[in-house]
Amino acid sequence: MTQSSKYSNIIDYIKGLFPNQSFIPLHEPRFVGNERKYVIDAIDSTYVSSVGAYVNRFEEMMQEITGAKYAVATVNGTAALHMALIVAGVNQGDEVISQDLTFIATANAISYLGASPVFLDIDRNNLGLSAASLEAFLQENGKKESNATFNRKTGKRIAACVPMHSFGFPCDIDKIAAICDEWHIPLVEDAAESLGSYHDSKHTGTTGLVGTFSFNGNKTVTCGGGGAIVTNNEAIAKLAKHLTTQAKVPHAWEFNHDHIGYNYRMPNLNAALACAQLEQLSTFIENKRELASKYKLFFDGIEGVEFVTEEPGAKANYWLNVLLLESKEERDAFLTEANSNGVMVRPAWTLMHKLPMFQNNIYGDVSVSTWVEERLVNIPSSVRL
Ligand SMILES: *Cc1c(COP(=O)(O)O)cnc(C)c1O
Repeated sequence: MTQSSKYSNIIDYIKGLFPNQSFIPLHEPRFVGNERKYVIDAIDSTYVSSVGAYVNRFEEMMQEITGAKYAVATVNGTAALHMALIVAGVNQGDEVISQDLTFIATANAISYLGASPVFLDIDRNNLGLSAASLEAFLQENGKKESNATFNRKTGKRIAACVPMHSFGFPCDIDKIAAICDEWHIPLVEDAAESLGSYHDSKHTGTTGLVGTFSFNGNKTVTCGGGGAIVTNNEAIAKLAKHLTTQAKVPHAWEFNHDHIGYNYRMPNLNAALACAQLEQLSTFIENKRELASKYKLFFDGIEGVEFVTEEPGAKANYWLNVLLLESKEERDAFLTEANSNGVMVRPAWTLMHKLPMFQNNIYGDVSVSTWVEERLVNIPSSVRL
């Protein structure tokens, strides 16, 4: 590609934001705090596995950060989602509403339970589940029976609704929660991407019955692999903790288990890293928001490129910055040019309803998801040193 090509000014601008790097990844972790100290401390303590002080401290920090009453550490965000759906009461043969544009883990976790994900459209303004499409789907298909809602066409119970706060932009969670309440559908928020994002000063993941987070290597803060469940419901928190620790009945030496449990607890070694990262969450987010405002100013001056920003009342962590280009052709041209010039950019996930495993699943009118999928590009979003 030549310097005179269409997107070279954008590519140059991004390179200028991340100087002295021959390759600019989408999102690199930054270990610039107490990471080494805490990890070495965990090793020296010999508590590297699922019991240890850092796991407990991590849970306390997650409670403080999110304002949720309870937090339960898990091995990763997918396990957190799986567990959240279990404690929300999802069973085999149920339907669970989510969005067509999401990362595969959302739909996979639903599928692990033998439930079927139903894919609805996203909101053009925040890229999360559209409250209007949820309402329309339930009006058309829902049938209330005592304290539950069934799909009157399939006869299946609609056991949960899982909106996802895409790229860290809070979705319209209050409206979604009101609809779920009205239909007696438990609300599980996939907040994997939105640690540090708020909707009307309420942390994402804390409006629904349960919320889940991820600490994977590409997320805002990472501990290699890790996840968390947050809730304000004590019984739910206790059950989640119990089931993620092999459902072992506490006893000094006896092995008694009262449920099918899971080995889903975050190891102390990872929790040590997580604690050090969480200490830096607010400075990381300030840094990321400053990057987003630079991008916003720059892209405001470029025709045919929309830089997506938080909605009024929302505070986004700007986990991954999002561009919407004018067409799929423009998107493909930009993807090719940036990636071949050392600037990593990525398209949206393939829509869930198009994947072979979900060929027979129900999906709604997904015209916004389709429009966005064709035009979306994520651009480098790491914390700048
Ligand atoms: C990252 C992510 C997850 C899963 O997290 P892991 O920790 O990688 O298992 C789930 N949902 C969404 C939307 C994600 O982006």
